[in-house]
Amino acid sequence: MNPTMSDATVPAQEKWRSQWWYRPWVRAAIGLTTITFVLGYHAYESGFEPFTFIVLSVCLVVPLEKLIPRHDLKIFRPELLTDFFHHFVSGFIGFIPLIFLFPVLNEFQSQELASLIQSQPPWLQILGALFISEFLIYWGHRFSHELPLLWRFHAVHHSSPNLDWLAGERRHPMDQIFMSFFVGIPMVLSGFSLVDLLIVGAIQNVWDMTIHANLGWRLKFLDGIWVTSEFHHWHHSIDKEARDKNYSGALPIFDWLFKTYYLPSDKKPGPYGIDTHMPKTYVGQLIQPFLKIKQREMSVKGS
Ligand SMILES: [Zn+2]
Ligand SMILES: [Zn+2]
Repeated sequence: MNPTMSDATVPAQEKWRSQWWYRPWVRAAIGLTTITFVLGYHAYESGFEPFTFIVLSVCLVVPLEKLIPRHDLKIFRPELLTDFFHHFVSGFIGFIPLIFLFPVLNEFQSQELASLIQSQPPWLQILGALFISEFLIYWGHRFSHELPLLWRFHAVHHSSPNLDWLAGERRHPMDQIFMSFFVGIPMVLSGFSLVDLLIVGAIQNVWDMTIHANLGWRLKFLDGIWVTSEFHHWHHSIDKEARDKNYSGALPIFDWLFKTYYLPSDKKPGPYGIDTHMPKTYVGQLIQPFLKIKQREMSVKGS
């Protein structure tokens, strides 16, 4: 080999190898993202939405949890199977009524409002749909905590002692149905197109997975602008100061406006869960909210 050529090429190679984009974790992240999007796209094309969620999580969020964990937690942690059932079964059950209701609701849509919204540029329509749906999510979620009947069902979501990529999927079908109706009905009636609602829904669903995930990133630059995992982990914390705080799904402005914003800089969220009993099995969690009602009725009759 010509020694002059080798001298000239080695420093050049060293130079690009020392760039930030050549670091192993950056290359790993780019590779994982590419695989995720290719597999995710095929899963989406197949029309099986819950499978897309699993592909996205297993390829992207689970490796990130291993890279930057918030808590020491195994992938195959207790009650993982329960949350799988929630994801596949309740996800479908919760959305079925809304699917049947959409065509009926479309008949009652205000045509003036619909044409006004749909004459706006697409980015403004999406921003508007995000803002209004986040307002509804805030109040639907707050009612789920403050109204005892709704809390019985929402308590299932809060019963996870461990938060990770699948923990957020733990939702009672009644909780899911209530939120779908509370947010979906006004959104469809107000005249937003189904495309706008699907785009906003996809953003909210993907983000919902990351805010429950066991990710140790702080993302301080998003404080007050966008909900982070730190913000939502406080919502699941059993700490009394954090109770009934941080209801927002993506835009924390509503917690700030309605005085429920909680994000201390001097402590970390956790442990998580509820202070009442919740079975660990899927079927047990489906029955539990109804048992409570039954027990209460029985004790009232007996007194
Ligand atoms: Zn909640
Ligand atoms: Zn949650």
